[in-house]
Amino acid sequence: MMQLRTSCERLKVDIEALAKYTSTPGSGVTRLSFTEEHRLANEYIIKQMADAGLEVFVNSAGTVVGRREGTDPELPVVMMGSHIDTVKHGGAFDGTAGVVAAIEAARVMHRSGFKNRHPIEVVAMTEEEGTRFNDGMLSSEAMAGLITNKALDDLKDDCGITLRKAMQDFGIKPDLDRAKRSDIKAFVELHIEQGPMLEAKGTDIGIVENIAGISVYKVTVVGKSGHAGTTPMHLRSDALLAAAHIITATNDVVNKIGKGSVATVGRIGALPGVSNVISNFVQFSIDIRASKQEYLDEVINAIKAEARIIENKFKVAVSFENPSNGKPVKLSTRIGELIEESAAELGYSYIRMDSGAAHDSMAMAEIADTGMIFVPCKGGISHNSDEWTDYESLQKGAEVLLSVVERLSCLSGA
Ligand SMILES: [Zn+2]
Repeated sequence: MMQLRTSCERLKVDIEALAKYTSTPGSGVTRLSFTEEHRLANEYIIKQMADAGLEVFVNSAGTVVGRREGTDPELPVVMMGSHIDTVKHGGAFDGTAGVVAAIEAARVMHRSGFKNRHPIEVVAMTEEEGTRFNDGMLSSEAMAGLITNKALDDLKDDCGITLRKAMQDFGIKPDLDRAKRSDIKAFVELHIEQGPMLEAKGTDIGIVENIAGISVYKVTVVGKSGHAGTTPMHLRSDALLAAAHIITATNDVVNKIGKGSVATVGRIGALPGVSNVISNFVQFSIDIRASKQEYLDEVINAIKAEARIIENKFKVAVSFENPSNGKPVKLSTRIGELIEESAAELGYSYIRMDSGAAHDSMAMAEIADTGMIFVPCKGGISHNSDEWTDYESLQKGAEVLLSVVERLSCLSGA
């Protein structure tokens, strides 16, 4: 076994330290953006970055950035990191694992006196989850120029506080436009898988090829209300019954099409919503995810075809709206190969896979060659206080991250 350069113990210390910055002690990690917990976590991260020899600043979108200058400072930056915000009652590893692994990689470079041609930056991004302002990937979208200053006043939290006010109170002079970058060559993000595949196969490293596109539909079914006792079965146009058939058809369609596509109905409402009246109005959501746009299209077209049949059969009117559409993202083949080479040299097992969850890497892929390293998480559980990754597994990911970023930062060419 090759001598490992990262420290399992230091990764554990960092994860445990950051897990303490939660507004729900004893009930998972809740660290919303621009809160006291976020401030304390940032202070810890800034200290660790500075100790790792990085020059630290907080950009105008609230992202903590630590820079290790390159021997040629004019060259574009190799960036690594992930997000530091969490969902409510989330785990200690989602996002944080990638931040901690990147800091550890920077520590190793600092201690070994590694000479990087390209500047290297470590980032702790925020509001990736969108838990506070209902619009995720703030840090990465600002870097990629996908969100502008208009959002500072448009986005509000549940208490009506605007993003601008929250950032000002946090001590930042908010300017999302100014956070845009055009000097990033590559971005590498380590993240827990948030699914069960790596653990089930006993594999150390996941090399992410595509991040699934997410298409959300709002389906409305209009029927006719009627008395539950006096309306004969054959004279009904029951909107809820028709909706139930569409939901079942959705499941059947996706199972049939396969190709890694998934669809979920997670929200439904029926009117008038009383036990003795036939429903005349039902609305439900369909969340479809797939690694290619053509698969997303295939799934929704098949669902719509089934809905037309059900519409006639149950004498209802069915309509589809598509309020949100996130395109699938293909990650860098070149960085995928570097992850593979590094994992192979270190003697780790690896597989190529897609990510069903969204990540900052989606936005970063717009402006830089982007790659993702997945590490296993126990039982595939995430966004939950039971989320867990063994520190030895995290260390393997950190070793690969270190190796990939070292290679990228020494390669010639932009
Ligand atoms: Zn995450």
